[in-house]
Amino acid sequence: MGLRLLDQLGDVAGRRVFVRADLNVPIADGVVADDSRIRASVSTLSELRDRGADLVLASHLGRPKGAVDEALRLAPVGDVLGALLDHEVMCVRDVTPEVLPGAPIVLLENLRFDPGEEANDPAFAGRLAELADAYVDDAFGAVHRAHASVSALPDLMHASGRPAVAGRLVEREVDVLTRLLHAPDRPFVAILGGAKVSDKLAVIDSLLERVDVLLVGGAMAFTLLAAQGARVGRSLVEPARFDEIRRTLAEARDRNVEVALPLDVVAAPAIDSEDGVVVSATDIAKDLAGFDIGPATVAAFREHLAHARTVLWNGPMGVFEREPFAAGTRGVAEAIAASPAFSVVGGGDSLAAVHGAGLDAAFDHLSTGGGASLAFLEGRALPGLSVLEDDQP
Ligand code: ADP
Ligand code: MG
Repeated sequence: MGLRLLDQLGDVAGRRVFVRADLNVPIADGVVADDSRIRASVSTLSELRDRGADLVLASHLGRPKGAVDEALRLAPVGDVLGALLDHEVMCVRDVTPEVLPGAPIVLLENLRFDPGEEANDPAFAGRLAELADAYVDDAFGAVHRAHASVSALPDLMHASGRPAVAGRLVEREVDVLTRLLHAPDRPFVAILGGAKVSDKLAVIDSLLERVDVLLVGGAMAFTLLAAQGARVGRSLVEPARFDEIRRTLAEARDRNVEVALPLDVVAAPAIDSEDGVVVSATDIAKDLAGFDIGPATVAAFREHLAHARTVLWNGPMGVFEREPFAAGTRGVAEAIAASPAFSVVGGGDSLAAVHGAGLDAAFDHLSTGGGASLAFLEGRALPGLSVLEDDQP
């Protein structure tokens, strides 16, 4: 797959480049609560500025559903970005202004204020296309969606002879995830957790073709345990998935992939309980639910992770937001950090856990796109990437 890259953008000195960034950050009371994604966008923007380009930047923020939502304006993001770039970012209050202000760096209003964005509307894309001479997509978190700013717009730019390429962030994400899918150093250990197994069944199926060991924690483990007859008490389960899961586990056996499930769990009557008890994962009392993996499971998972040469992690091992149920996720984060493996973590909550443990620097790659990385790992063609691929073989 040949993505067109910044190197193929040509001379952009004095030209206006449209950059679709992923500036979709949490905002609380008008203040950016976590600026990781804004920071991640800086390398491409600085490179383009160094090459003499003027920038028109665009992003979505939250889910305003095609209408203006005052709480989801991008101005607070523009302030943070300006400080990081050490240059004023001029925020306009229109998604598609008739005339762009003359400033070197302009940030358009939240793309999703216009219904044309999510509808992949060519007319809306046409209005965006009028604002620039070239296009760069650096919003990896959005490439799995056929939305106008990542699909119709680059299509139109390319068709009209203007460059449309991937930025450095998209380039790096695609490099790393392609390596996981096609050339991982072995043993390759994937560790999955999180709330719902149904979100991740497709990625499990795809990973079974590639990994040596699959470790499963989080609420999703209970559906796998229950499908095999374990007593899981009041833990979250999705019985509608039992048949599919039995097929998946049989496939894992056929492929010689070891699937390791929790041995013990931290169980409690309710998610807001003050503490939990460690019990066997296959024999949880009727009035208790599992909210974290237990210490024996952490030790077993650590052993697998210590021998891995490639690790992919998505999804917390428990309700890590609450201290009584945080130890399993922290233990796994530390085990991956201590392992010499090439390590990749993705998913909003998993990243928050890594952050919280202060372990960012110990991972080789923190994937910025939760849904997009999962879709990539499922092996799906992503609309925002196909449009940036070279037509020539
Ligand atoms: P990510 O954002 O990293 O992809 P998910 O969104 O799939 O992860 O799952 C994260 C959520 O799963 C967290 O809010 C966490 O509290 C919840 N969770 C994990 N384990 C359990 C459990 N045993 N019971 C209930 N919720 C759980
Ligand atoms: Mg999540």
